[in-house]
Amino acid sequence: MNCCKRLFDVIIVAGGKSERAGCDKLDAVIDGRQTVLQKAVNAFADLQGINSVIIGLPEGKALPSFSDRLEIKRAPGGDTRYLTVKNCLALCTAPYVMIHDGARPYPGRKLLEKLMDETAEKGSAVPCLPLTDTIITSEFVPADRKAFLAVQTPQCFKTEQIIKAYSAYRGEATDDATVYYKYAQNVNYVPGETSNRKITYPEDLIPRTGIGYDIHRLETGRRLVLCGVEIPFEKGLAGHSDADCAVHAVMDAALSAAGLRDIGFYFPDTDDSYKNADSVLLLSRVCDILKERGLKIAQASISIIAEKPKLAVYMDKMINKLSDTLNIEPGHIGISATTNEQTGLIGKGEAIAAWAAVTLVNA
Ligand code: MG
Repeated sequence: MNCCKRLFDVIIVAGGKSERAGCDKLDAVIDGRQTVLQKAVNAFADLQGINSVIIGLPEGKALPSFSDRLEIKRAPGGDTRYLTVKNCLALCTAPYVMIHDGARPYPGRKLLEKLMDETAEKGSAVPCLPLTDTIITSEFVPADRKAFLAVQTPQCFKTEQIIKAYSAYRGEATDDATVYYKYAQNVNYVPGETSNRKITYPEDLIPRTGIGYDIHRLETGRRLVLCGVEIPFEKGLAGHSDADCAVHAVMDAALSAAGLRDIGFYFPDTDDSYKNADSVLLLSRVCDILKERGLKIAQASISIIAEKPKLAVYMDKMINKLSDTLNIEPGHIGISATTNEQTGLIGKGEAIAAWAAVTLVNA
């Protein structure tokens, strides 16, 4: 246990009924390994200065396992968020507290450290973001969205102050900053993170799938690169980049699954910086674009259509290359190769094409 002055208890509010998600969203597995609740709690495991994690959970609900580095306590969930937080505050012993939604599994480490520093310095720190949607009143009158901010968690306070505010507060509160503002003092708002979003609706939990296709002509004097692996052959694929049609198909499938524009939009062939570019590096860039949106590739299936050369001996190498690039297990990548039965451009050995199907999950 860290005995420094900057010592925090973490309250995880997990007493809700998940009515909008239509299922217990906290139990949903979101990255192939952890549930929403496990991920929300474990986000605090690598931080210096965490005293304990107090989870407010409905009675009878089993507590899953969390990181060994965390001291976990359990508090009874109340009928409302306000009552759950109040029950958890009773177990706090550190000078500061971070109050976090169990349904918000993606708080970034940088954001958490910033919130801890600001709280130790200013007494509170609450992440918030400007609104991007147009805002209207319930009477359909347009409102100035610049006057509003969306408030995230964790919301961080001096423990003594927030306990005082909670004791004085009457009525319902959907967030702690409101309680603190009313009975303690001004809230120190700091910029939040777009990826720190809350799981609210069933569609927030559905994996996204996409397909992609690409074809390039074979020419002499070019290297043949497929799935990032150079394959000895008398011809190579012609194109602005290294013309790796298999990787291009994966990139398009991933962007499509995320509901984004295609690779021509992100990496136009009119841009000289992509001349002879290593497509695997461009695929890493696509992974970064996905990460900014809280998504990552969980699985990829690729079909390469080539009359020649035979690709079977390069399969393991291609799978390993993509596994390293995408940071997923080799078993989550499937590559098949087929010919075009001597028909069309591909069948005459003048081109190679690839299809890809990709599944994205929340990062
Ligand atoms: Mg291409």
